[in-house]
Amino acid sequence: MEYNMKYKVPFVGYKLQYKNLKNEISRVIEDTLNRGDLILRKDVEEFERNLASFVGTKYAVGVNSGTDALIFSLKAAGIGSGDEVITVSHTFVASIAAICHVGAIPILIDVREDFNIDVNKIKEAITEKTKAILPVHLNGRVCEMDKLMEIAQKNNLLVIEDTAQALGAKFQGKTAGSFGIAGCFSFYPAKILGTAGDAGAVVTDDENFAEKVRLLRNHGQRKNSEGKIEILLFGETSRLDNLQAAILNVKFKYLPKWIKRRREIAEIYDKGLSNVSEIKLPPAPNSDPKYFDIFQNYVLKAERRDELSNFLKEKGVETLIKDPIANHKQPRLGLSHFNLPYTEKLAEMVISLPIYPELTQEQIDYVINSVKEFYQ
Ligand SMILES: *Cc1c(COP(=O)(O)O)cnc(C)c1O
Repeated sequence: MEYNMKYKVPFVGYKLQYKNLKNEISRVIEDTLNRGDLILRKDVEEFERNLASFVGTKYAVGVNSGTDALIFSLKAAGIGSGDEVITVSHTFVASIAAICHVGAIPILIDVREDFNIDVNKIKEAITEKTKAILPVHLNGRVCEMDKLMEIAQKNNLLVIEDTAQALGAKFQGKTAGSFGIAGCFSFYPAKILGTAGDAGAVVTDDENFAEKVRLLRNHGQRKNSEGKIEILLFGETSRLDNLQAAILNVKFKYLPKWIKRRREIAEIYDKGLSNVSEIKLPPAPNSDPKYFDIFQNYVLKAERRDELSNFLKEKGVETLIKDPIANHKQPRLGLSHFNLPYTEKLAEMVISLPIYPELTQEQIDYVINSVKEFYQ
């Protein structure tokens, strides 16, 4: 992703966010380094408590990325060689990669208008090898979890949620990450709660599951009752860095405010762009009481998408085209046997507009007017 100050409206607000929090962040970095607390110290524990309490689960385990959160969750659930896991192609590739990394087989199905898994297509994808469903709550909107959980229960399938884009999002009042056996978060800088590098976490209500993830992130090591280190399995070096946890603890306080602001911006985009017939907007923040979306991304379906993107670039508005080729159509991944018409159509239409709390009213209006100008 290009970060160019020449843009009137850059796609991300990393520098601005830092400017606003500079004093607090500098203070905790210095404090953490002065204490010499670098690996699995109190800041990680505090972060895990913050996250579990925010999501409403009993446990949270910090790891070094959202991808490892997914891989460890699949492993902790006992999913491995030959097992099938149902998910979508219309996601960040990590959701699919994690399934392949544990030796399982991704079964990809289509999404609906709101970019999330089409729950009506799950049943026909189930075989006797199916072990789990991995719903991805894309762009900050939760999947239709009542129906999905019902299908999972009826068919004895585990549910592992990819919540990397959905921290704080809700469906029927229930938080993303609290439906399945585990929720897998990412704190990559571009996520709604982003740190100064890579970070992730698994949330769960299951004590054994949490313990398994703790072992997997730290080479299977645990102190026994005599204080001796036992190695219970072959694990990895994938702990959440203590310094990153300290930074995340600072930012956590602002999360509710940031979510509110993102929803406000989405509302402004919705009002400003709803009568442009060449684009389809995501569902507006208050359009359906079942959903509480947090607008990790603001994604349009646009006619003449590539031209729009170039036009906006010339106007100084930076946009993102995330999946110009659908994941299952990437020739090297061996997934091209899947036939997903809507996902393939989306690859030609989706474009993300800038959305982050630091955007000014002036910038938002400028984006709206620039999009309108293109289609005039
Ligand atoms: C960001 C993301 C991931 C991976 O998280 P990392 O921390 O980058 O490994 C997984 N799934 C989705 C949907 C994501 O957006």
